[in-house]
Amino acid sequence: MADEIKMKIEEEQEGTQVYSVPFPKDLSQLKDMAPIVIKFPWQVDYIHSYGQDSPWFAGVSNKKLLATKCMDEKCGYVCATPRLACPVCGKEMDWIELPQQAKVHTFTVCHFGSETFLPECPFVLALIEWEEADTLFLTRLLGVDPLKPTLDWIGMKVQAKFLRLSKFKPTDVYFVPAE
Ligand SMILES: [Zn+2]
Repeated sequence: MADEIKMKIEEEQEGTQVYSVPFPKDLSQLKDMAPIVIKFPWQVDYIHSYGQDSPWFAGVSNKKLLATKCMDEKCGYVCATPRLACPVCGKEMDWIELPQQAKVHTFTVCHFGSETFLPECPFVLALIEWEEADTLFLTRLLGVDPLKPTLDWIGMKVQAKFLRLSKFKPTDVYFVPAE
């Protein structure tokens, strides 16, 4: 029994390793000590389910833009940003395909963004509208100069573009002015 009781923790070679940390003889100097800062690599495998939004991502990876349409004939509400329960009547919605040409409803120029978008700043975020849909779709608008924004962009015809290598993210699709 005594053999099974651990007396020592095994040393590991992983993580932060520190050697020869300076230490004052006079403990009163410790309050002036600079903070210790450590840096170490950190990786997590994040598992995230797209759940009922999965068909939308399957769509963009196949260069198709999907929306959902209320199955109630009288309602028929269409969400360009899909959801499976109708926000108007609560009935179930069906998947439909949206045209890849649409119009700019409105836009903003972002001079700051989250980490992913920082290298792209300034960039244009636009709300896209379809005659076939009742809600708008938030996306990036490329092919215009973000430093020369003009109200002429509102109502402009735009064309969907898709990343060739899908990342399974909403940013797999963006829009450019239609030719
Ligand atoms: Zn409905």
